[in-house]
Amino acid sequence: MRYLILGSGPAGIAAAREARRLDKAAEIVVATEEHAAPYLRPALPDLVSGERELPAMANPLAKDLEELGIRLLRGKRARRVDAGGNRVLFTDGTGEGYNFLCIATGARPLAPPALAAVPGFSLVLNSLGDATRLRERAMRSDHTVVFGPGYLGIEAARALRMAGNQVTWISPGPPRTGNPIPPDVEAQIVERLRSKGVKTREGAEIADVIDVDGRSCDVVTTAGETIRCSLVVAAVERFPGVDFLEGSGVKAATGILVSEYLATDVSNIYAAGDCAEVHDILLGKSRINFGWRSAVKQGQLAGGNMAGGGGVYIRNAEDYFGQLLGDSLLERIG
Ligand SMILES: Cc1cc2nc3c(=O)[nH]c(=O)nc-3n(C[C@H](O)[C@H](O)[C@H](O)COP(=O)(O)OP(=O)(O)OC[C@H]3O[C@@H](n4cnc5c(N)ncnc54)[C@H](O)[C@@H]3O)c2cc1C
Repeated sequence: MRYLILGSGPAGIAAAREARRLDKAAEIVVATEEHAAPYLRPALPDLVSGERELPAMANPLAKDLEELGIRLLRGKRARRVDAGGNRVLFTDGTGEGYNFLCIATGARPLAPPALAAVPGFSLVLNSLGDATRLRERAMRSDHTVVFGPGYLGIEAARALRMAGNQVTWISPGPPRTGNPIPPDVEAQIVERLRSKGVKTREGAEIADVIDVDGRSCDVVTTAGETIRCSLVVAAVERFPGVDFLEGSGVKAATGILVSEYLATDVSNIYAAGDCAEVHDILLGKSRINFGWRSAVKQGQLAGGNMAGGGGVYIRNAEDYFGQLLGDSLLERIG
């Protein structure tokens, strides 16, 4: 038996481990576009702020993959799933076959289009590479504009302020998906950020970004304000990237549509984590349960079900985007 798992985030790693637990003899391969070893995505802001160094970013769930006989193929970005031929084709021209496939490709940030025009002034905060670049840029920047709703915007603003930057946080309003932070808690957090020197602009989008002199740029907001800065950071909502599934027969809406067993429409293909729009048997509808804990739980279920288990996903309130590491948001801001 050969299990192929796409993505080395928490869902992919959990799926591989669970498949191994249930099937000792199987060949298990995790293929990921990442070049870095699996890491703790929720700790990225701490790398930016300087509270955590690179060695402490490793995902402990992935430390013994080799001993478990799970092969990790890095730098492999899935381009197409040939469901008829049970094969995934990668952008580097190679391919991997499977008996069962688990898609755990997470989600990607959707940055404001205006930032594409000024790549030298803008960075996203999503991957280990992004956080490393951001840390390095923060050392050279004096004023940074952070754009993004809710938790991600708050964490990026906090981290960059701790790294010594003047920070203006533009919050476009509550996130479009998922469970927003309760308004009273968010109000307290915003107040604390302000007391730490973060300037806040609520209810605005980025309309344009204009290069002023090669070293600074003007961020124009939809509220009509112009903010001069040396860096713009998009700490924005993430949405599943499902283009590579076109023509595969795997159905997707916002995310990959899966049953409560995390099975797709194609009988030997499963999906788990932030890329999966799961049928919630309690609510009677499909939704994406973004968050680390939910990704681990879904990964375990999908990995187990590929290997003959029969687990059903039941969402608990605490699965969703709970603080994974350390203190609550309020305590982190101090
Ligand atoms: C800055 C930040 C802070 C966060 N903080 C928290 C927090 O405090 N608590 C919390 O619960 N959640 C937090 N999250 C969200 C959490 O990290 C995600 O919900 C979780 O990582 C989802 O896990 P996943 O395995 O589904 O996907 P991901 O972690 O996104 O992993 C998917 C993997 O698949 C790879 N991939 C994508 N497309 C392809 C392809 N075509 N081919 C091959 N590989 C591919 C990606 O590179 C990635 O390695 C945070 C996210 C960010 C960005």
